[in-house]
Amino acid sequence: MTQRAARRFANWISGAWRGANGPELERRDPASGAVVSLFRDSTADDVDAAVSSAMAAFKAGWSAASGAERAAVLANAADNIRLEIEELAYFEMAESGKPARQARLEIERSAMLWDYAATQARSVTGDSFGQLGGNYFAVTVREPLGVAAIITPWNFPFLIVSQKLPFALAAGCAAVVKPSELTSATALLLGPILKDAGLPDGVLNIITGLGRSCGDALLHHPSVDMISFTGSTTVGKHAMRVGADGLKKVSLELGGKNAHIVMADADLDAALDAALHGAFLNAGQSCNQGSRLLLQSSIAEDFTRKLVDYASRISVGDTRAEGVLVGPIINKQQYDKIVRYIANGREEGATLALGGTHREEGEVRFVDPTIFTGVQRHMRIAREEIFGPVLSILSFDTIEEAVSLANDSVYGLSAGLWTANVTAAMNATRAINAGTIWINTYLDGPPELPFGGVGESGIGREVGRLGVEEFMDIKTVQIRSGGYASRWIGSAVV
Ligand code: NAD
Repeated sequence: MTQRAARRFANWISGAWRGANGPELERRDPASGAVVSLFRDSTADDVDAAVSSAMAAFKAGWSAASGAERAAVLANAADNIRLEIEELAYFEMAESGKPARQARLEIERSAMLWDYAATQARSVTGDSFGQLGGNYFAVTVREPLGVAAIITPWNFPFLIVSQKLPFALAAGCAAVVKPSELTSATALLLGPILKDAGLPDGVLNIITGLGRSCGDALLHHPSVDMISFTGSTTVGKHAMRVGADGLKKVSLELGGKNAHIVMADADLDAALDAALHGAFLNAGQSCNQGSRLLLQSSIAEDFTRKLVDYASRISVGDTRAEGVLVGPIINKQQYDKIVRYIANGREEGATLALGGTHREEGEVRFVDPTIFTGVQRHMRIAREEIFGPVLSILSFDTIEEAVSLANDSVYGLSAGLWTANVTAAMNATRAINAGTIWINTYLDGPPELPFGGVGESGIGREVGRLGVEEFMDIKTVQIRSGGYASRWIGSAVV
């Protein structure tokens, strides 16, 4: 995909582009340093315009639209996303620095989430209670929460907004989306895509800006009913505190330090490929990164040798070049952090088996796939989220030891386990604290399956049927059809 001229974006409010008041921000391609997009750091007034528009549209009819009407819009949106795949993939690639092929795959996978959410819009149900006695009957009805504030990170920009927004719309919520200031374009392109799909004006509003200004104003807005946040654990905790003050529902998808376990009896070729994919996809800038590879001692040496050999041949470089699997690091802050962790791994006594090399030329920064062996559980590279192409290898003797290592983390997003032993797999599945466990696979994620973490990896689930229910409240309706039996005042008043 060739570099294009920079595009200037406005906010998307009430079904139209609307200029914002704050200073202009620019986003440069991390692979070339060229300016890709320009947009505003929206002010509190801009945020208020977006939330007011959402609130009005929610009340004006979207909350009462039938599931069939919502489903039709979402299915059209999925089609439109596929039609716009080149436009979306270009900005996804150019703003985040991911390889073009990967960007296209992510847009295709996102379209599947919109398709699936369309089916769920028609399938939301409550419960019925027919056993309460006599002519007493009750039902629960699911209702949309209201205005959802959706705040997303930069690493999988379009995929993550697609894990939230179609589900919020399927539920009947109106939304204000605040994408990362590093990757705002693809979320903004959803504005016209959804208008063309038939979404009423105002149901979706998209505002750009920095987290500490625009994002924070959105969290604090009194008319926001729900906060759906994906990002770092630090900012997620802040969102939770702000949500607590306003008694808003809060759903958080946060960081991870995921254990990827390989037993000696596993299909080792498949596990090798998955370990590389898990560690270096998106230059390791993934919440689900298998950043702690736990190898059974008897295979550790041989497996590591092969892993290092393959990883040394991964091509690192400009995102647009064919065959590049690992692109640049998103920005200087993230690059400096990764470089510090590499130095720290050495200082703490881990062995650098591959990489550790990195380069910064102007606005372009690369870190080569880096593998540490001999990592101990107390080391920072075994405990903290690095968010770069750095893999820490630990070894273990028994499955119990592997589970203990896996659970020795404040995080609990996901874990992988490779073994041919079904009993060991099932026991480990129960014992590992994580929202997702992959057995003999890694990074799968069909839209039917809920996703989320435990511990410092978050609260709540998105995607799947639960993904819609997250954006809904339950109303309990109690009915006595045979007359009101109790007479409270009747006995006291003569
Ligand atoms: P971040 O927390 O810095 O930013 C995420 C979003 O929050 C951005 O839109 C940002 O502008 C906004 N923000 C920042 N400060 C804010 C504030 N004070 N008030 C309101 N909004 C604010 O995270 P990031 O660097 O963009 O993303 C990387 C992190 O996201 C990693 O920790 C990664 O593990 C996590 N992540 C988690 C998942 C998941 O599903 N669990 C998926 C992807 C990324």
